[in-house]
Amino acid sequence: MTKYLISADRGEEAKTIIAQTIIDTGVIIKVLQAVPGSEVLIEVKESGVDKVLNSFKKKGLIVSEIKEVVTHDPERCISCGQCVSLCPTKAFSFDEDDTLVYDESKCVLCKLCLDACPRGALKPPQN
Ligand code: SF4
Ligand code: SF4
Repeated sequence: MTKYLISADRGEEAKTIIAQTIIDTGVIIKVLQAVPGSEVLIEVKESGVDKVLNSFKKKGLIVSEIKEVVTHDPERCISCGQCVSLCPTKAFSFDEDDTLVYDESKCVLCKLCLDACPRGALKPPQN
């Protein structure tokens, strides 16, 4: 699955374009986050990416691919849990030893967790 970001200024319009693109291409586009006034995050299966991007382009919708996500440093993490409830996609959980587990495949780079970590264990992409 590949994640893409649609800028906030096209947010409302994007919903209609996404719906039409699903109809036009037959490719499922999963909306991961669509908060009014914010960027819209979508996920597309690798096999359908070309079709979807071509369809978006024809409709004038430019998207940017999310290639990197937040990283978690287990050496710095003290499993305090302050990041857990903030994450809209439930990327954080605890294992049976109450140690924090981070599933980066669920990160949509909303960045809500970054300032919450008192240990600097969560870092944004470096590029
Ligand atoms: S940036 Fe942090 S809060 Fe946002 S989705 Fe990724 S892990 Fe969750
Ligand atoms: S807020 Fe930071 S230290 Fe606390 S559990 Fe999350 S990553 Fe670990």
